[in-house]
Amino acid sequence: MAISSYEEDSFRLASPDFSAADSDLEVSLRPKTLDEYIGQGKVKDNLSIYMEAALKRNEPLDHVLLYGPPGLGKTTLAGIIANTMGSQIRITSGPAIEKPGDLAALLTNLNEGDILFIDEIHRLSRSVEEVLYPAMEDNAIDIIIGKGPSARSIRLDLQQFTLVAATTRAGSLSAPLRDRFGVVLRLELYQPEELAQIVMRSARILGIDIEEEGAIEIASRSRGTPRIANRYLRRVRDFAQVIGSGSITLNDARTALTKMEIDELGLDNIDRLLLSTMIHNYNGGPVGLETIAAAIGEEAVTIEDVYEPYLMQIGFLARTPRGRTVTNAAYIHLGIPLPTPQKLI
Ligand code: ADP
Repeated sequence: MAISSYEEDSFRLASPDFSAADSDLEVSLRPKTLDEYIGQGKVKDNLSIYMEAALKRNEPLDHVLLYGPPGLGKTTLAGIIANTMGSQIRITSGPAIEKPGDLAALLTNLNEGDILFIDEIHRLSRSVEEVLYPAMEDNAIDIIIGKGPSARSIRLDLQQFTLVAATTRAGSLSAPLRDRFGVVLRLELYQPEELAQIVMRSARILGIDIEEEGAIEIASRSRGTPRIANRYLRRVRDFAQVIGSGSITLNDARTALTKMEIDELGLDNIDRLLLSTMIHNYNGGPVGLETIAAAIGEEAVTIEDVYEPYLMQIGFLARTPRGRTVTNAAYIHLGIPLPTPQKLI
């Protein structure tokens, strides 16, 4: 998809969220089978057993909930499930289903064994969510016909289907919805070695020449997120073609990512602003999420879903009952003197 350089530049490069500039790239890079899907060993092991068992019984797979930060491969897994089960997949998202009737129309159009993928399921409205309960449990929906005293409810049977839902915030799902998923799988941020394999694989598919050290460098700055790794690969290739040797070397990757203001740990300006604001304005915490959000001009949910998972994984931020706290490791990384007496975190 064409996108103006302004639009792309105004987009945060280190964001794990999907951007229009990723779209054509992502389709070609999506693994189609579990074997091609790198990392997430536990998820893959469980899922392959459930799928094999369902195939043996000749039944649709139980409903699956995938959760974890954006860009880790939830949509990709939904496609792999459909591919492995030999099913058609319909893709939609919570915000796209506005009314109960929209969901009813989707559900009644499903064929036996189809997969319905709902991204961002935590954003379904309560009235839409209620249509899902009987659909997931009894393969049926209740439709109200008529208005006022003569209104009556009729039950419409559906074909057996599998709902695969994705969310970045499992905690926001209502208990009745969460309980109706037979399979709940949590995706973790990737290790740098796994991301390096993903970068090498993507480079192969896109015909990009890259040395292993170059891939490792991109991987170690990609915040544990394949979507970011693939985006950096493309940007670094641009640098390598213009100022480097053509094949991406360690030095090309380093130079390009540093120019993009992504540091050795993958932190960008906003991460650094978040941490330094907490340090300079709030003595490193504890400070509440809403306060941080207001101080740096970001939404609290974005901080929680997008920035914090990685900062916590690398041990720069801790969540305490009284708020968020910056750890000593973050002071050292940012080159800010530790407060005295030394914080004990
Ligand atoms: P999510 O739905 O969690 O936001 P996606 O499934 O859209 O994430 O994944 C983003 C991109 O990252 C995909 O285009 C895919 O190429 C790549 N990707 C994600 N997980 C993997 C993986 N395990 N192996 C290889 N590539 C992956």
